[in-house]
Amino acid sequence: MWEDRLSSLVAEFLAGHDPEVIDRTQFLRARFDAGLAWVHYPVGLGGLDALRELQPLVNEAFAAAGAPDNSPHRNGIGLGMAAPTILRYGTPALRKRLLRPLWTGEEIWCQLFSEPGAGSDLAGVATRAVREPDGGDGADADGGNTAHAASWIINGQKVWTSLAHQARWGLLLVRTDPDLPKHQGLSYFVCDMTAPGVEVRPLRQLTGEAEFNEVFLTDVRLSDELRLGEVGQGWQVARTTLMNERITIGGRPMPREGGMIGVLAEAWRHRPDRRTPGLHDELLRLWVRAEAVRLTGMLVRQQLAAGDPGPEGSVVKLAYATLTQAASSLELELLGADGLRYDDWSLRRPDRVDMLGRTPGYRYLRARGNSIEGGTSEILRNIIAERVLGLPAEPRADRHTAWKDLPR
Ligand SMILES: Cc1cc2nc3c(=O)[nH]c(=O)nc-3n(C[C@H](O)[C@H](O)[C@H](O)COP(=O)(O)OP(=O)(O)OC[C@H]3O[C@@H](n4cnc5c(N)ncnc54)[C@H](O)[C@@H]3O)c2cc1C
Repeated sequence: MWEDRLSSLVAEFLAGHDPEVIDRTQFLRARFDAGLAWVHYPVGLGGLDALRELQPLVNEAFAAAGAPDNSPHRNGIGLGMAAPTILRYGTPALRKRLLRPLWTGEEIWCQLFSEPGAGSDLAGVATRAVREPDGGDGADADGGNTAHAASWIINGQKVWTSLAHQARWGLLLVRTDPDLPKHQGLSYFVCDMTAPGVEVRPLRQLTGEAEFNEVFLTDVRLSDELRLGEVGQGWQVARTTLMNERITIGGRPMPREGGMIGVLAEAWRHRPDRRTPGLHDELLRLWVRAEAVRLTGMLVRQQLAAGDPGPEGSVVKLAYATLTQAASSLELELLGADGLRYDDWSLRRPDRVDMLGRTPGYRYLRARGNSIEGGTSEILRNIIAERVLGLPAEPRADRHTAWKDLPR
């Protein structure tokens, strides 16, 4: 029985690694090496080839023993999106190099997808990667230089890059062949954020914070060893990342009445003076929606056990975004002028989005981004219409035209 085996493996591990005594990083590294990081990953890469649905059992046992967690809030892009993409498309050497420090939180990840002219139309990215004819020195998977493997020279600009200022690695979508139609001429790399030519500039957002950045890539040299998937296969690789992104954002495990709906319910309980039948009605409607989103997220995570996420991830991401916006709006309505006070307008570079710890005004402003990040609600509705409901697809006139000939 896997459950019994895992329980005794965790108990054995804890007997040999007392979280009170062992340094946090050493503890997390050892947990990875014992295959108790993500149990569904292969042996040697943090797992035991077990079922994904057994992971909560392991996490709960570690949490109950007071073990340190691996800071998932800071490394959501790494854990949620980079890891499954590397596992599926990385060479054995890349997987070995990247997955352990990713899981322990020693290396933070960012996603270098969006560009000033390519957000929703992500397959339109213009950042160019050109193969160096002589295979010159390039940043390799150890962040050093490799004199032998072929290299690529990258030039372009990325935007809205969350965590780029903290990231050691970036998931990079680039154009390697402008003569092919836009979806076919793309390739995918992991970008060494410490390589010469990578410049990260803060970008202040509506909330006052600078969670994200502009990233300028000027003659950045990356070794061919840092490529994920074949040259020209970048779109397929990116789709793996995007499908996991939607679940990372919308399908997080959530207790009943957790997250924004919990904050809203608390406000209702503490402000009887502001209650009206209309607000009560609206609160109950949102509570039911929150429960539906929570349970759908649970279902989608269970489906993940059977393989890659499907377009259902778009459903939870869309439902989550519309719910958080509605809940944060209702919170302001409920609190009236008190809710409009803003706590901190200084330019901060937060480790994570603190929706619950900040003020209602912050929640209201930050929730606007929920329907943009990870694919806008309009795009997700298109995906649901086409791939879940089987409705006719949007006309796409650019499918067979070389990218370089498309109007921009
Ligand atoms: C908080 C936040 C964090 C982010 N973090 C990252 C990150 O870490 N890395 C990264 O790469 N990107 C990141 N992004 C960028 C995000 O993915 C893009 O902003 C998003 O994909 C939209 O692209 P765009 O801004 O270019 O808008 P556009 O594509 O220009 O869209 C503008 C509007 O037109 C609508 N629209 C466009 N095409 C269609 C269509 N075919 N049908 C119907 N409507 C359409 C859109 O839905 C939208 O409402 C982040 C964004 C936010 C807000």
